[in-house]
Amino acid sequence: MTVNCVDNKMLVLETIDHFKDWHKQQKGTLALIPTMGALHEGHLSLIRKAKTLADKVVVYIFVNPMQFGPKEDFGTYPRTPEADLEACKKEGVDAIFMPILSEIYPEGKENCTKVVLPAALADILEGHFRPGFFTGVATVLTKFFSIIQPNIVVFGEKDYQQLLVVRRFVQDLNLPITVYGAPTMRESDGLAMSSRNAYLNKEQRAIAPRIQELLQEAAREIKMMQTKNAEEIEKVLAPVREKFQQANFELQYLEARDAQSLQPVSAETETLVLVVAAKLGNVRLIDNLIID
Ligand code: AMP
Repeated sequence: MTVNCVDNKMLVLETIDHFKDWHKQQKGTLALIPTMGALHEGHLSLIRKAKTLADKVVVYIFVNPMQFGPKEDFGTYPRTPEADLEACKKEGVDAIFMPILSEIYPEGKENCTKVVLPAALADILEGHFRPGFFTGVATVLTKFFSIIQPNIVVFGEKDYQQLLVVRRFVQDLNLPITVYGAPTMRESDGLAMSSRNAYLNKEQRAIAPRIQELLQEAAREIKMMQTKNAEEIEKVLAPVREKFQQANFELQYLEARDAQSLQPVSAETETLVLVVAAKLGNVRLIDNLIID
């Protein structure tokens, strides 16, 4: 399928064979933005960055069942293909790859070869609360990287641990790809943009910006103390965790970690990152803040 607009042509490719045919005709460098669709300004900012880094930009849209837990929202994950195509066309994306499930998992996701990640990075924080999540992410990315063969991939810092996991397996598996991170896009009240924000009811939406406010509050205090001592940092975080509960969040974790490794802060830590996951009803939100 080709979607035309006044000054550019965007191809919508639905099979691996069609994608490969298109790829054969391309010259120059290729940047890929992996997405699950329901695109918002955060995704579009990645496209804009990719356009400055490569000759051609490909977006894939694939809601990957392997990264959802049995009780998670695979079935109800927002799907807005028409609006997504329109948004990509406006941004001057060269091709969208949106394969159906059986193209990617012909034998089913259970029977698919999987990528094994280092536990120290992938089984903590998000990996602890979402077992199998990063295996699903790394496996589907490896498949898409093999099909699309990008020179460059761009990921959001919003999913901070995911960005580190991707950097790590690209390096460990010697994939010939350069990984770029891009800053988190936020609503005017500070809430990190996310496709899942659409699930928030009015009351929850009003509370959600507290996540970033509380991160900033904790970051200010830690910065003032000029400390990289884990116990002293814990003294700052404990009352902030309580504030999350008071604001009606079900807090899963709020931690200060080494920004390079996500391990607990130590004397070797150069930069700290605050990472948080908190639920409002059934809606799970994540955010982070680098303390520099
Ligand atoms: P998703 O569709 O949620 O899998 O996200 C696709 C890509 O968009 C990932 O690299 C995310 O980190 C990135 N992304 C999601 N939300 C934001 C945001 N608010 N700002 C920047 N990038 C984002």
